[in-house]
Amino acid sequence: MGLIRSFLGLFSSDIAIDLGTANTLVYVKDQGVVIDEPSVVALTGSNTVKAVGIEAKRMLGRTPESIRALRPMRDGVIADFEVTEQMLSYFIRKSNGRQLARPRVLLCVPSGITEVEKRAVRDSALAAGAKEVLMVYEPMAAAIGASLPVMKPIGSIIVDIGGGTSEVALISLGGVVINTSIRVGGDELDESIDKYLRKTYNLLVGEQTAERIKLRIGTAFDIGKETMEIRGRDIIDGVPRVIEVTAAEIRQAMSDPLGAIVRAVHRTLERTPSEPAADLIERGLYLAGGGALLRGFDSLLHEKTGLNITVVDRPLTTVVSGAGKIIDNLEEFRRVLIPTT
Ligand code: ADP
Ligand code: MG
Repeated sequence: MGLIRSFLGLFSSDIAIDLGTANTLVYVKDQGVVIDEPSVVALTGSNTVKAVGIEAKRMLGRTPESIRALRPMRDGVIADFEVTEQMLSYFIRKSNGRQLARPRVLLCVPSGITEVEKRAVRDSALAAGAKEVLMVYEPMAAAIGASLPVMKPIGSIIVDIGGGTSEVALISLGGVVINTSIRVGGDELDESIDKYLRKTYNLLVGEQTAERIKLRIGTAFDIGKETMEIRGRDIIDGVPRVIEVTAAEIRQAMSDPLGAIVRAVHRTLERTPSEPAADLIERGLYLAGGGALLRGFDSLLHEKTGLNITVVDRPLTTVVSGAGKIIDNLEEFRRVLIPTT
């Protein structure tokens, strides 16, 4: 049986892709997560792909003039179609390994996606080498990845804070009941740090350094007491300088985008019907996506909503592992797939 299976495996395969604004992850049926790389593509002057993923991210912000490194998904749905297609095809080929046939692909898509965007994403995946395309909403995949009882008549709210977007979704009975999507995520936190340093210290640091500051001393709630030495360039005289910032300053700098995410959660709670709302009192909210790792985010949301907050296990891989469970048990989960026409 095992032999027949692996023989058949040479001819067909199922993969699940979480094409995030910051990171792309690929799960291969019965194998697990085989790719976890930044959603970055480096192009030459004539627009041929020079590098994808980890290698391309190293080029962001420090490329020679002849090479551009960009993030085609940046603000949520596909911002740059051709480049996204090339990135997808690179990841599909890489994950498909020695398989001979084109894979069936389950794509995780934002729940705020329009019909036109859906068609565009599907066409991209087909052009990138998929034999057939299935789709699931990201918050649904996240909820399955977090082992929430998505098929039962129990309301769960999942808050997924990604790089370019945050999504808040109420899930029950195999469907997304309501959702709120905003184009504010980890990138905006980085940008607000960058802006703050410019305004307060006349210091230019760049996006990557801003992200490093967030990862090192960033907090959403009054818990961090650390300081950090930061190197940058003076805006006025262009000279390299070193300053020291505190966790409290960085928290203050990020307060606008943090507030926007809290408001998105509130808007979803306001629209939640009373029965699932009662479930939330017991079960609380679940936080996923890389932004869930910002220290104190759970405390901030608890303070603002009064509900229990659970950060899911491994928030960066919840969506793809949920999508993986779907392709491993397609019959059980068929109802959560969204119609693609
Ligand atoms: P997407 O699904 O949009 O690709 P991810 O879920 O991969 O996004 O999350 C990426 C975001 O999470 C980035 O903005 C990154 O800076 C942020 N992030 C990752 N780890 C942490 C951490 N430990 N603390 C705060 N933010 C983090
Ligand atoms: Mg995501």
